[in-house]
Amino acid sequence: MSAVIPVVRADAGCTDAPVLRERGQREVFCGLTGIVWLHRKLQDAFFLVVGSRTCAHLLQSAAGVMIFAEPRFATAIIDERDLAGLADANDELDRVVQRLLARRPDIRMLFLVGSCPSEVIKLDLARAAQRLSQVHAPAVRVLNYSGSGIETTFTEGEDACLAALVPQMPAAAPGAPASLLVLGALADVVEDQFRRLFDAMGLPPVAFLPGRSAVRLPAVGPNTRLLLAQPFLAATTKALEDRGARRIAAPFPLGAEGSAAWLMAAAAAMGVDAARAAQAIAPARARATAALAAHRERLAGRRIFFFPDSQLEVPLARFVARELGMVPVEVGTPYLHRAHLAEELAWLPAGTPLSEGQDVERQLDRCRALAPDLVVCGLGLANPLEAEGMATKWAIELVFTPIQGFEQAGDLAALFARPLLRRERLAA
Ligand code: SF4
Repeated sequence: MSAVIPVVRADAGCTDAPVLRERGQREVFCGLTGIVWLHRKLQDAFFLVVGSRTCAHLLQSAAGVMIFAEPRFATAIIDERDLAGLADANDELDRVVQRLLARRPDIRMLFLVGSCPSEVIKLDLARAAQRLSQVHAPAVRVLNYSGSGIETTFTEGEDACLAALVPQMPAAAPGAPASLLVLGALADVVEDQFRRLFDAMGLPPVAFLPGRSAVRLPAVGPNTRLLLAQPFLAATTKALEDRGARRIAAPFPLGAEGSAAWLMAAAAAMGVDAARAAQAIAPARARATAALAAHRERLAGRRIFFFPDSQLEVPLARFVARELGMVPVEVGTPYLHRAHLAEELAWLPAGTPLSEGQDVERQLDRCRALAPDLVVCGLGLANPLEAEGMATKWAIELVFTPIQGFEQAGDLAALFARPLLRRERLAA
C-alpha cells in the first residue's frame, strides 16, 4: 500500500482537469541528452552512442567543457558505407569497443546507446550488447538502450538507461527488512543532503538509483519502497514494480513544501514517527522558506507559460504557483503520467490549462495570445520568443542545475526570477 500525504485531497486542484492533447511537430531534445548528466553520476560507466555526426555534435555542445577532459561518453559514427550496407556495422562496432576497452581499463559498464541512424539501419544493439558482454566478461558488462529522437524525448533517455539497469539489480533476500530506494538522478551534493536528512529522521540506510556505480547496484524485492525523485521514470518504475517494489505516492522534492511532503511520505511508508521526522527536517525547511520569501516578492502575480520539454513542468508549475505566487497560464508536458503526478496535479491551482505533447505552431500562437511574463521553453524557441519581446528561461537549465531539496529551493526560485530581473535592468 502506498503512503498517503494528508495535505492532498483527491478532489483538489487539477486532479480531474481536462488535458489538451496535441500530436504535431515538436521542438524537444532527444533522449541522448540524458548522457550529459548520467555520465557524471555513474562514475564507472561509459556511454557509446552508435550514431551520426549530428548525435556527436549534440552531445559535445550539450556537455560543454567535457570534450576537453577524458570523457565517459563517445560516438561510434555510422558513416555512408554503413548506411549503404557496404560495411558490416557489427564488425565495426566490435572493433570500436575492443579499442575503447583496451584504452580505458577503468570502464566496468558499457552502454551502447541507440540513435536515429542505428534505428534506420536496424542495427540490433541488444544482440550486440549480449555478444560483447560474453567477449568482455567478467571485467565489463555491456548493456544497451535507445536515446533516439524517434523513440525518446530529452529525459526519457534517463528512463531507458535506468530501465536497462533494473535486470542487473540483485534480488533482495526473502524476508529482508523494508528498504527505501530513491529513483532518479540527483546531483551528488543533493543525494548527500537527502542521505543526511533520512538519517536524522530515523530511516534505515537508503539506496539511490542511479548511485555512483553502475555495477554495485542495490537489491530489489517485495520489501522495497520506491520514492521517485524525478517525474519522467515510467518505464523504470514499471520494471521495479514488476520485481515487487512498491511506489510511495508523493509530490516531487521541489521547494520547501514539496521537499517536506516528499520526505514525510518516505517516513510514513517506512513506519518512522511523524513528529520525529518533522522535527528532523524543520531547520532545513525553515531555511528553504526564508530563501523563497525574497523571490516571492518579485514573482508573485507574474504569469508563466511552460512549453513541453523535460516532464518536470507539472511539479515546477506547482512550485511556482504555490510557493512563489506565480500564475501558470499553460503547463505543457511531453507526457503526463497521471498516477505519478497525482499529488502534483492535486496541488496545481484549479483551472490551470494543461497540455500534453506538442503542435509547436499552435502552441506558439496560444503563447503569443496569452502574452505571459515568463516563458519556459527549449533552446530552439527561446531566441525567437526573446526577439518578439518575451522573457524566457531555458528548460534545459532546470534539468542540468541541482534544484531538488531544501537547500536548493532558493536557487530554483532564482532561476525563474533572473530573466525578469535582467529585463528590468535592461529597461532601466
Ligand atoms: Fe538527432 Fe536522432 Fe542523433 Fe538525437 S539521436 S541527435 S535526434 S539524429
